[in-house]
Amino acid sequence: MAAQETADNKYVYDFAEGNKDLKDLLGGKGANLAEMTNLGLPVPPGFTITTEACKAYLATGREPDGLAGQIEAHLVALEREMGRSLGDPQDPLLVSVRSGARFSMPGMMETVLNVGLNDRSVVGLSAQAGQNDRFAWDSYRRLIQMFGKTVCEVPGEEFEHALDEAKRAKGTTNDLDLDADDLRGLVDAYKKIFLKHTGRDFPQEPREQLDLAIRAVFESWNAERAVLYRRQERIPADLGTAVNVVAMVFGNLGPDSGTGVAFTRDPGSGAQGIYGDYLANAQGEDVVAGIRNTVPLQELERLDKKSYDELLGIMARLEGHYKDLCDIEFTIERGKLWMLQTRVGKRTAAAAFVIAGQLVDEGLIDLDEALHRVNGAQLAQLMFPRFQLDHEFQPVAKGIGASPGAASGKVVFTSARAVELAAEGEAVILVRRETNPDDLNGMIAARGILTSRGGKTSHAAVVARGMGKTCVSGADEIEVNVPAKRFVVDGRTVSEGDVVSIDGTTGKVYLGEVPVMPSEVVQYFEGSLDPEHIDNALVRAVHRVMTHADAKRRLAVRTNADTGTDAARARRFGAEGIGLCRTEHMFLGDRRELVERLILAATATDRQDALAALLPLQRADFVEIFREMAGLPVTVRLIDPPLHEFLPPLEQLAVNVAVAQERGEDVAKEEALLAAVRRMHEENPMLGLRGVRLGLVIPGLFAMQVRAIAEAAVAVTRDGGAAFPEIMVPLVGAVQELETVRTEAEKIIAEVVGDSGVEVLIGTMIEVPRAALTAGQIAEAAQFFSFGTNDLTQMGWGFSRDDVEGAFFWRYLELGIFGISPFESIDRDGVGRLVRIAAEEGRAARPGLKLGVCGEHGGDPDSVHFFHEVGLDYVSCSPFRVPVARLEAGRAAIETDGSDSR
Ligand code: ADP
Ligand code: MG
Ligand code: MG
Repeated sequence: MAAQETADNKYVYDFAEGNKDLKDLLGGKGANLAEMTNLGLPVPPGFTITTEACKAYLATGREPDGLAGQIEAHLVALEREMGRSLGDPQDPLLVSVRSGARFSMPGMMETVLNVGLNDRSVVGLSAQAGQNDRFAWDSYRRLIQMFGKTVCEVPGEEFEHALDEAKRAKGTTNDLDLDADDLRGLVDAYKKIFLKHTGRDFPQEPREQLDLAIRAVFESWNAERAVLYRRQERIPADLGTAVNVVAMVFGNLGPDSGTGVAFTRDPGSGAQGIYGDYLANAQGEDVVAGIRNTVPLQELERLDKKSYDELLGIMARLEGHYKDLCDIEFTIERGKLWMLQTRVGKRTAAAAFVIAGQLVDEGLIDLDEALHRVNGAQLAQLMFPRFQLDHEFQPVAKGIGASPGAASGKVVFTSARAVELAAEGEAVILVRRETNPDDLNGMIAARGILTSRGGKTSHAAVVARGMGKTCVSGADEIEVNVPAKRFVVDGRTVSEGDVVSIDGTTGKVYLGEVPVMPSEVVQYFEGSLDPEHIDNALVRAVHRVMTHADAKRRLAVRTNADTGTDAARARRFGAEGIGLCRTEHMFLGDRRELVERLILAATATDRQDALAALLPLQRADFVEIFREMAGLPVTVRLIDPPLHEFLPPLEQLAVNVAVAQERGEDVAKEEALLAAVRRMHEENPMLGLRGVRLGLVIPGLFAMQVRAIAEAAVAVTRDGGAAFPEIMVPLVGAVQELETVRTEAEKIIAEVVGDSGVEVLIGTMIEVPRAALTAGQIAEAAQFFSFGTNDLTQMGWGFSRDDVEGAFFWRYLELGIFGISPFESIDRDGVGRLVRIAAEEGRAARPGLKLGVCGEHGGDPDSVHFFHEVGLDYVSCSPFRVPVARLEAGRAAIETDGSDSR
């Protein structure tokens, strides 16, 4: 095009030169404007300055060589095409300057419309528009306002005040009532504001306006809010933004002009139909700014049938082309339709599934693509109960959906009060400006947490997600007054004890108790909704996608379940076995007494008696679990926590002993217990006498468990329900530990199993870093590995989870030290590397070694992809996460197979 351009420093692209796949270079907006141009849709001509130019500018603090010339060349071409030149006093070309990064983000510079207007060209514009003075001055005042605010950081309220003042003087609230003279006066007022704040007159030179606006877009990439947002959303900091320069079209030329936004389907439900808003006689930003009331897009049919029909045709075309829901922005200038933006539109979780299903039906995408377009986070959202919102419930505030769920309860303002009321059986919502580690007990006691400050990574958000508790953070319309025990929102006062409802998915806050309804998706998984026989688009779409995910995935999905009930539920959710059955609960409740006897046993006989009493109880527990999981593998972990956890707390025992002594009662047993608790006290129980260490120190403990497992397996198998037990030894760090346990266990198993045909595997958890690093040795003694990524994360980072999440994770997230808690999503580089090493070296030593994961990461979408890549055989997660893991395992399979078609 222009002479200065060479292939390696092309900074400016005409819309006709780009396409939708160039988003990295042209930003989302520019790439899609180019795509529409090439589809032959009516897009006003223009050009895009690349992200490369932005990056070069930000690196050096000045426009890169060649950029000015290229802009000039493209501007000249644009002027020629439009038959007007920028800011020409008689017949001016005006342009908009629009930022457009790869991802849209708050804090980036907004659009400046009407660039090129000045004291002289405003007259020309009026003439051009048929002596429409009102229109010309309205456009000019908008330029000064937008330019002042976004390019020169003049406080926007000052302009708004001046506009309100002008309306008041005229005795109106509608900006359409301001005539040309009023607007001319407003321009003068705006110029004074501009001068006051910038120390200079509003720039009259059109090219200077353009250059300043472009530079401001570049610089806004590093605006504080944009930087913070990128960090929180894990958007790379080095992408840069593109700048679009677009010939202006005018929706404010009179009643036959206007502007609007639309979606090609309902982004809330996915339903087909016409969804949009239109505003006559207005310019772009008015629609969203809510200055005047918009009308539903359907009204346009009555106002301007030709444009309406054309628009619907274009929308259908865009959907067919992008094969997805699109949102669009358009303007009508005196009956002529112009397309100003399109993109694949955001949607709710439900709409994502429904639309993916519809598009498959319409033949636009295949099932792989449908699977690719939904994700586990969306599915998880759909599995929470929801508020049943009919029109009587309007949100009073909207914050950030920080931890999903729907919670109602009485408002409290302090942690102490939350604990008190919860103890009385009340559901409470803890409301704070922001939370801190002192609020922890209140957060545990509350049904939900509501804060007026902070984002997705605030203390409240991080801790609530860790606890699986509903949380709305940063609802800044709420004014919290803790000492007065009330908050004010929307002019209303909510006091302690009043009921509110919070939606941790949408971030919406309601006054009063909103009824909650169960998730249809959960009902479907539980088997109580049959997708073939109900008219529910969401359930049918979920069914379809899940069926496809199951067909495609390589990873098996098991569940963590400690009881028959959990096992049965998880099985309905699609679990293919148990990956972690903890045995700790088998030592609780009325069995504590036996544990006390075990700990206090003075002789080997006493100890054996206690163990013998525990044996039938454990066997019965295993029988129940093996029955529910008949035909599928069940990994049972031998007892893991330190034994003193099963004894009463020290303080309580000390008090009991003192009180009993006072009464002159016999306290021999309590005193012995107290002494044992004192003796067994550990400074760091997490790193103390637990796991395999316990089994090696307390004779007969593991043996009893192994016997119970083997006997239960034989009993269930004899009853016709094949049991496949896998005994898992926790906390192994050295192969010698495992060998010792295994030698003893194998003897017992051989004795119990006899000729029943039952096979019992013996394997180990890999959860101590040393185990991961010596996996080759350990594999010699292990028939399977199961990665305990919770402990591996704790010990890999040296984090005590219970302490760190509440104490400082929010700060680490805020500082960007990590983008997400390593307990939520596996740290691929560190902890993940340990997993990878252990998987490779374990399999090298023992080909075919069965590998799984049983930490909470097994149900985390991103981590599931990682475990697929590393080549594990299965993931195991809580019953509720099983469908999420199935879905993500399917997605991981199609993505690594290269069938990712987007
Ligand atoms: P955002 O990313 O905030 O939507 P846009 O760059 O899309 O910002 O612009 C904001 C508004 O200005 C939109 O409604 C758009 O339609 C309107 N607009 C942008 N460029 C032009 C133009 N050349 N002519 C008329 N209206 C425009
Ligand atoms: Mg837009
Ligand atoms: Mg562990």
